[in-house]
Amino acid sequence: MAYIQFLGAAGTVTGSKHLLNISGDPSGAGLQILIDCGLFQGQKEWRQRNWEPSPIPPNQIEAVILTHAHLDHCGYIPRLVKQGFNGTIYATPASIDLAAVVLQDSGHLQEEDAAYYNKTRSSKHDPALPLYTEQDAIDSLRLFKPVNMEQVVQISPKLSFRFVRAAHIMGSGMAEITCTDGPSPRQLLFTGDIGRVRDSQVAPGKVVYAGPFEGESVDILVMESTYGNRLHPTTDPRPELIKTIKDTVARGGTIVVPAFAVERTQKFLFMIKDLIETGQIPRVPVHCDSPMAIKAIEIYIKHSEEYSEEAKVLIQKYGSPLKWEGFFFDTNQQDSKEINDSHYPQIIISSSGMATGGRILHHLIQRLPDPKNQIIFIGFQAPGTRGAIIKSGAKTVKIFNQEVPVRAQIAAIEQFSDHADTPELLEWLRTFKKAPQVTYLVHGEPAASSQLRLAMTSALGWKVEAAQWMQKVEVK
Ligand SMILES: [Zn+2]
Repeated sequence: MAYIQFLGAAGTVTGSKHLLNISGDPSGAGLQILIDCGLFQGQKEWRQRNWEPSPIPPNQIEAVILTHAHLDHCGYIPRLVKQGFNGTIYATPASIDLAAVVLQDSGHLQEEDAAYYNKTRSSKHDPALPLYTEQDAIDSLRLFKPVNMEQVVQISPKLSFRFVRAAHIMGSGMAEITCTDGPSPRQLLFTGDIGRVRDSQVAPGKVVYAGPFEGESVDILVMESTYGNRLHPTTDPRPELIKTIKDTVARGGTIVVPAFAVERTQKFLFMIKDLIETGQIPRVPVHCDSPMAIKAIEIYIKHSEEYSEEAKVLIQKYGSPLKWEGFFFDTNQQDSKEINDSHYPQIIISSSGMATGGRILHHLIQRLPDPKNQIIFIGFQAPGTRGAIIKSGAKTVKIFNQEVPVRAQIAAIEQFSDHADTPELLEWLRTFKKAPQVTYLVHGEPAASSQLRLAMTSALGWKVEAAQWMQKVEVK
């Protein structure tokens, strides 16, 4: 019996890791591959799973197929390699470039965290160790092998796959797998994260192709459900953004934008550039204060094969953000501190996107207490994060052990999401040539998965189940 086992992102949105075993041997012999190899993040209960021994001995896994370079899909790779995985990691060229940046940064942060715990003696482990180091991350890169979009790869005589466009972030691809171990071939589709389905009007500034690959014909679908119970606004965010920026500049304030370093920052930079050049917002200095975002910009400029039509026009018109006049890319901490000391109107874009760490914290400490300033959230704020606390209207927020008063203006623009919402997912699923035998929903909080399951069952009449953590399901 061939089977899939959900080792992560089941009942939660992080830790994406799905095992496909086509030998059917529960002892683990035979061909086993992982689709994604992500880190659990967020609540402690989930994060602890990163530290548990891999349920499958890593040296018995033949290959990893990586759908995209977000940490919750690739962040466990260095740990897997450290524990003995020595197979091939298949990813698109852009994903490999982004994963190199994301994984090294992750290793670096793990080392910093461990050092902080040891210094403050605030961990029950003595000494506290990193899950993996920056060097471990670098060591894991040798196993990556580039695969172009739609190029077929034969992993074994009985298993092949190709990436098809997911339109989520640069390099993102769904893994379309063909198994020929049984009497008739079977097709499986692991979506990874699915980008916006409609055009650039509802996902303005999108860098990568708008819309996932259409016309699928699969037997088993393993699909994400992040926005299974929410709707994105369908209005253009630009009028609100323009007004907010103009008002802030008029009162002499600074605009601070917490943004994810990969994709979101690039998308936002191009939008701001276009608004400045078309005279819709004043020409104020723009600081991008995130070393990872700067590396990601270089990767964006390199991978022109991924651009949407709109991005092609913008990039042709404006070139690399790193060369724009009035845009400052602050790579060392001294430059970052100098921005803190300046008090003229400007736009500061920095990470992390949910204000859980990184240089954004210094900017928030500086700018939150003054009502002239404006904070604009352009990304999802997970419950419990500082971003969510500030966004909810809290009067103070704790940063580096101090209670910082929140007097700045707070705004949130929800249109920038890189995930399709339910109507968009249904629109995409309607392009399928046939109904899958069964769909398993992963990568969603339980409420989101269960609501999407109901929506799919009633709108399409498909058989849909919410995947459970560690559950094994047969591939018939
Ligand atoms: Zn993602």
